[in-house]
Amino acid sequence: MYEGCTIYRFAGFTIYAADNRPFKTKRTREDALFLPSYINCTSYIVPSYIFLAIFRFFLAYLQKKAYLCTAKCVNTMKQAAIIVPEGCTRVLLHACCAPCSSAIVEWLLAHQIEPVIYYFNPNIYPQEEYEIRKNESKRHAEGLGIRWIDDDYRHDIWRESVCGLENEPERGRRCERCFRMRLDAAARKAQELGIPWFATTLASSRWKNLEQINAAGEAAEKALSSASDGERKVRFWAQNWRKDGLQERRNTLLKEYGFYNQQYCGCEFSIR
Ligand code: SF4
Repeated sequence: MYEGCTIYRFAGFTIYAADNRPFKTKRTREDALFLPSYINCTSYIVPSYIFLAIFRFFLAYLQKKAYLCTAKCVNTMKQAAIIVPEGCTRVLLHACCAPCSSAIVEWLLAHQIEPVIYYFNPNIYPQEEYEIRKNESKRHAEGLGIRWIDDDYRHDIWRESVCGLENEPERGRRCERCFRMRLDAAARKAQELGIPWFATTLASSRWKNLEQINAAGEAAEKALSSASDGERKVRFWAQNWRKDGLQERRNTLLKEYGFYNQQYCGCEFSIR
């Protein structure tokens, strides 16, 4: 039946090319029983190649999709835990308020890392609100026997630093400046105290932009390192402090301690 045919084998197919004669003129009922491993016409060779090429392209596309999905999952898993920087046993923790500090401090102590709380938030307005938040932070630290450091409240200097950005929305450029000012001070304080790491509780708030906070912390670390040539280096511990169940723990501790729970971020432009 296949005499005079040229036989091609590829990709699991056996193709009997019948001297360029159209498929229909050659096909018999018997031939049809061999399909799909049997294709009896040269006119099918080119379409088969095209089909295989499309099929391989589609497979490659699926493989790439699967790879990207796996990479994303691995990334998410990496971020799912709090990662302690190597050799870190002490950290200067810039605290924006007591509720945001509580679960972080608890976690640090449970992991044998000594926190020193640094309260520097000249962004808060009015001063009565500032005093309430500051006293709550102090009460929290003193109750746990943790060192607590207060720094100047110079709201006028903070206002100068955000001049021209008053109408920016929250998470906008004013917040970038605000984070930078506070983390610059935290980096300097850590260096002054000989604490090799600094971190911030700002990175525990779901209302704030974590990328902005990390960028501000890293910029503060870099600026200090180039300004203090040869002096002991301090490093910013960039961390999402909502991970490892700390967001839920914060809410529980807020009630347990009976902390004052502020209703706005801090500055006059964030009062709703
Ligand atoms: S909204 Fe909050 S983070 Fe932004 S500038 Fe005001 S106090 Fe700072």
